[in-house]
Amino acid sequence: MNSIWELETFYRNRNVIIIGSGFTGLWTAISIKEKYPEKSVLIIERNSIPLGASTRNAGFACFGSLTEVIADSQKMGWDKTLELVEMRFRGLQKIQNYFHRSDIDFELSGGFEILDSDHSLGMMDEVNEKLKSITGIPETYFLNQNKIKEFGLNKCDFLIENPCEGSLHSGKLLQKLLEKSQELKIEFLFGMEVKSVVEHDNDIEVHLPKGVSIKGEKLIYCTNAFSTEFLKEEEIIPARGQIILTEPIEGLRLKGTFHYEEGFYYFRNVGNRVLLGGGRNKDFKTEETTLLATTGFLQNHLEKFLKEIILPDQDFIIALRWSGIMAMGAEKTPIVKKISTRQFCAVRLSGMGVALAPEIGEVMSSMVYGQD
Ligand SMILES: Cc1cc2nc3c(=O)[nH]c(=O)nc-3n(C[C@H](O)[C@H](O)[C@H](O)COP(=O)(O)OP(=O)(O)OC[C@H]3O[C@@H](n4cnc5c(N)ncnc54)[C@H](O)[C@@H]3O)c2cc1C
Repeated sequence: MNSIWELETFYRNRNVIIIGSGFTGLWTAISIKEKYPEKSVLIIERNSIPLGASTRNAGFACFGSLTEVIADSQKMGWDKTLELVEMRFRGLQKIQNYFHRSDIDFELSGGFEILDSDHSLGMMDEVNEKLKSITGIPETYFLNQNKIKEFGLNKCDFLIENPCEGSLHSGKLLQKLLEKSQELKIEFLFGMEVKSVVEHDNDIEVHLPKGVSIKGEKLIYCTNAFSTEFLKEEEIIPARGQIILTEPIEGLRLKGTFHYEEGFYYFRNVGNRVLLGGGRNKDFKTEETTLLATTGFLQNHLEKFLKEIILPDQDFIIALRWSGIMAMGAEKTPIVKKISTRQFCAVRLSGMGVALAPEIGEVMSSMVYGQD
């Protein structure tokens, strides 16, 4: 049994309960508190730190590459594709408005895409025309062949540059969001896994371990790839992403964020180290998992890619290897919606949640209390 002190403080009723303290949960809580400061907001997180995608990603302040935008438009049409691009663009602006760049290592060094055929170049003008109203730039994507040599890249026939993309330190951004949350008096319970949720006529109740339960008016799932138990109707496919990071490399020439094969490979410099992730398309079925682990097959594949394409003339030592879990679906649009009178969800942020989450927080806060 809990004490009166616990029941009247930590486990008391709240207006809003959010499950998940990754980027989506934090930005959503912040948006709600900024718009409705009188509402109490509690975030429940099962791990001692956010653990899924937000602390395990590549730290691209991700706008998206040319071939990715083309592939998205072919899968889901231009309207949805442009809506998503605009959301990312505005999300990146919001991050820069909220935090000093130096506090989160935000660098606008440009995004680059390696192409080994001129197939997509023919569509570049059309894509630029469509993106102009979002970025305000006539050429969001342009060919920059000079940089192939400057960066020391191998097997790169064409290099497309995009000045709207940058990189950041995901850990520092999360810590800043936590600081902002404290300022706004958002409350947290870390290390508590939500086991089940029961919606009643007058409230919603979440069940936690050791017989603890907490009631709220509204509940928001920000559980991304870990949502299938709660959101059985939705198409949420877990997608593990594996990463390697080198030790510092003297005289490293690579600078910026880089995409290859429609974003299936991504790499960047972290100071004078190289971070490389991806290759999921080489072993799709194994990587459809929520298990945080690395595999020999993909780790070797990534090392080979690093040696052949990124660092053909330099020796390197791998310092760290890790994995994180994304959430995917047939199309890239996140699932942001009301699912019952008191339950909402903001999940399936694909590989672009750093940029999408700030805007999703805005949408969710309007959805939860907008019509009251
Ligand atoms: C390898 C990799 C590289 C990536 N690179 C980039 C990139 O460079 N740029 C970019 O924009 N995006 C990138 N992404 C995607 C981005 O990281 C995600 O879209 C984003 O972090 C999703 O945030 P989230 O808060 O929705 O999910 P998560 O960060 O996964 O947070 C969900 C949280 O819910 C918690 N949770 C789950 N179930 C429960 C429960 N029952 N009770 C309590 N808590 C629970 C989890 O512990 C977790 O902390 C990458 C992702 C991966 C995996």
